[in-house]
Amino acid sequence: MFILSSRARGLKPSPTLAINAKAKSMQAQGIKVVSFGAGEPDFDTPENIKRAAIKAIQEGFTKYTAVGGIDELKDAIIQKFKRDSDLTYKRSEVLVSCGGKHSFYNLAQALFDQGDEVIIPAPYWVSYPPMVLLAGAAPVIIGTREEDNFKITPEGLKRAITPKTKALVLNSPSNPTGSAYTKKDLERIAEIAISSNFFVISDEIYEKIVYDGFEFRSIASLGEEIRKRTIIVHGVAKTYAMTGWRIGYTAGSEEIISAMNNIQSQSTSNPTSISQKASVEALIGSQDEVKKMVSAFAQRRNYIVDRLNEIEGVSCYKPIGAFYVFPNFSHYYERTYQGKKINNSTDLADFFLDVARVAVVPGVEFGADPFERLSYATSMEDIREGIDRIEDALKKLS
Ligand code: PLP
Repeated sequence: MFILSSRARGLKPSPTLAINAKAKSMQAQGIKVVSFGAGEPDFDTPENIKRAAIKAIQEGFTKYTAVGGIDELKDAIIQKFKRDSDLTYKRSEVLVSCGGKHSFYNLAQALFDQGDEVIIPAPYWVSYPPMVLLAGAAPVIIGTREEDNFKITPEGLKRAITPKTKALVLNSPSNPTGSAYTKKDLERIAEIAISSNFFVISDEIYEKIVYDGFEFRSIASLGEEIRKRTIIVHGVAKTYAMTGWRIGYTAGSEEIISAMNNIQSQSTSNPTSISQKASVEALIGSQDEVKKMVSAFAQRRNYIVDRLNEIEGVSCYKPIGAFYVFPNFSHYYERTYQGKKINNSTDLADFFLDVARVAVVPGVEFGADPFERLSYATSMEDIREGIDRIEDALKKLS
């Protein structure tokens, strides 16, 4: 008899959190590590949001709330969807959870069964396949190409569809590539989802972090038929530098939201009362700080992409959104350092950490081994220093 369940035995810990832990432990030993590992803004949570939380504490808003979130926050979410995507939802179609990850987890538990297939385009956010597996369903990974800006094509999508297809996971802008789907791209995907009758899980957590005037569109806003089949997963973590506050939310049909609410009621209960009050301010208060953060990210993106593309043999797609770059380093595979061969993205990430003292996340964790993920949610000085170190380290490979 095994002590652990097969579910637990089959599960790997989140690789991004593991890399950050290793980098932090090196730093604790006094080693200066430049970390491109973190999936979180380096900015502080804006003052107006903190003040809303302090006020909530002072007013004693520190008890259990309704499982799926307070009405005030649900109304702020409803207002946000109306304002940004012209989407109309009722309170019964919105659920607040403990982070976007928790929103997706609850959704997977509510929607998927043994035998269901869930199409996940690669490169994908690391947590999608494990959460689909934990729900008993099968992730069906479809590759995308650097030349297609890491976007799925209608043909690629159609090839993956079977009678068991229950849903497609769409993440635009994407973690890890920063690629994003245009209205036209989304129209084609919507047509296929409607004709083949599957759900679209639209993870829009990086909606507000877009560059060069890119116009974000939610696939749910393209018509009633696709809206009925779409469940939007969202959260305040990335837009408002609120990763530690743990507030995510979902919008979709009443039937699905109500099932997710039941699951949440038997697991975590409500998300933190104080964070909920802060999130109301985040969503409908001043958005000025967001603009400042996005403009800082844009500057860093331009710099890091140019620097990476200047390195011999490296190609780096210029992201449209989020705060990651996903350069192709496969030119350096098969090379060696002190007799040790670099076979893949994991070996190269280890080499960067050990030799350059730079933390990156191996592309294989996102389903794309030729690449490494670098988060540029860090200072310009660190970016400059980190890329200098990577460049120098690569010269040591023979
Ligand atoms: N979705 C994507 C694509 C992400 O990158 C993340 C965080 O890294 C999340 C969802 C979840 O964010 P959180 O649980 O912090 O709200």
